[in-house]
Order: sequence, then C-alpha cells, then structure tokens
Amino acid sequence: MSALVVESLSVVFGGFRALDDLSLAIDAGEIRGVIGPNGAGKTTLLDVISGITRARSGRVTLGEAIDLTRSSEAEIARAGVRRKFQRPSVFPALSVRENLEIGCGAGCPPAERSRRIVEALTIAGLESQADRLAGLLAHGEKQWLEIAMVLASDPRVILLDEPVAGLSDEETERTVGLIRGLRRPDRAIVVVEHDMAFVEAVADRVTVLHEGRTLYEGAMAGARAAPRVIEVYLGR
Ligand code: ADP
Repeated sequence: MSALVVESLSVVFGGFRALDDLSLAIDAGEIRGVIGPNGAGKTTLLDVISGITRARSGRVTLGEAIDLTRSSEAEIARAGVRRKFQRPSVFPALSVRENLEIGCGAGCPPAERSRRIVEALTIAGLESQADRLAGLLAHGEKQWLEIAMVLASDPRVILLDEPVAGLSDEETERTVGLIRGLRRPDRAIVVVEHDMAFVEAVADRVTVLHEGRTLYEGAMAGARAAPRVIEVYLGR
C-alpha cells in the first residue's frame, strides 16, 4: 500500500521547470532515498510535499485518499507529514526533554506523551542527555534531537533533508541505525542525501532525479550500474 503518492507534479520557476511531470509512490513501511545532482529538484520535491511550494500541476496524496495538493504547510503537518530541514533548528534554551515535548505537539495525552518521549530518546540515543540544554549538544546530537522531535509527533510520513550533512563517519553510521529505527509498517520515510554510501545503507530503494524527472528507481546497486545514472551523476 502506498503511504505517499506524487502524481505528474510540475513546478515552474519563471520559465524553468524544476519538476517535470514527476510521479513517485512510496510504500508504507518503506525508506526511500532520493538522490541526484545539484539542481535535480530534490529540495523542490520536498517543498511541494510539505506545502512550502505550490505545484503548477499534479497531485500529492497521503495514504489512499487524503489529497494534500492544496493544503497549507500547517494542515500537511497536522495530517502527519513531518520534515526535518537540513540545518538543526532545536530550541537551544530548552532541555532535550522539553524539545521533545514540543515535538509531541499540544493536545497529546500525558501517558501517550511520556511513551513517545521515551521512545524518541531511546531511538536517538539521547537518554543520558534528556535534562541537558539542547544548545549545549554537539552538532550531530542536535541533528538526532531534531529527528527525535519529528518522531515524537507520531508522523505517517517523515521527510529528511540531508540528515548527515556535516557529520563525522562515526556519527553518520550511527544515523543509519537511528533512521532505520524510525521505520514502522504504516510509515513512509524519504531521505534526500548526497552521501551515497549513507543512502545505500539506509534506504530500501532509491529514486534518482535529474532535471526534475525520474532517471532511475530501484535498488542502489542498480543505480550504480545504470549507464544513464553514471552518465549524469556517478561518473563525475
Ligand atoms: P536540488 O535540491 O536537487 O539541488 P532544487 O530542488 O533545489 O534541486 O532546485 C531545482 C532547480 O530549481 C534548480 O535549478 C534551482 O536553481 C531551481 N530553483 C529552486 N528553487 C527556486 C526558486 N525559488 N526560484 C527559482 N528557481 C528555483
């Protein structure tokens, strides 16, 4: 079953087509990597899904029937589509736990809130840091906290924009386990990332974008071997 479906999406900036009739379906339970050279349309795709950019045409559907195409950013977030942006944006003057409480959102019952915070701290490996000020965390820990805040909102779709940018090899490896720990049978995860080894380790399948279209979709090993992918992207 598809958790997130993008159909015939076109986005035009001035005269330039950033997305060109792009279609993509991500299964529930899947972790999908989205890769492609600079300017391929990866960020624009996440911007349309999360309601920041309007498509000229096409459709975004959550689950089987929830049309998000004309929804606002806030409505899309409320529907359960959550995004982690590239730069960490935690609340530095609040503790890790308080950041996670914000991630849960208002209206979450106390028992459920506690359960989600424990789960988020565990998956992010931040149990021992729960009472520390978020501003005192290392860069990598801030990234993990932000992913944990997304998790605490109990999302149906998680969009991650370059989650290992600026992280060391060791932190990157730890992030693989963290993101795989977000997987749930009814949840789709989309990871946009430049680090190919990371994408290969974390994603079930990849979509290679080029000039706003899908160049390849399938296993990362297949992407590495596809001549059209090598030509535009891997053969640098
Ligand atoms: P990627 O994330 O794959 O590097 P982007 O989605 O950021 O690619 O950009 C796709 C193309 O759209 C690029 O050529 C970029 O310059 C262009 N673009 C993105 N946002 C805007 C904008 N707001 N106005 C004009 N052009 C834009």
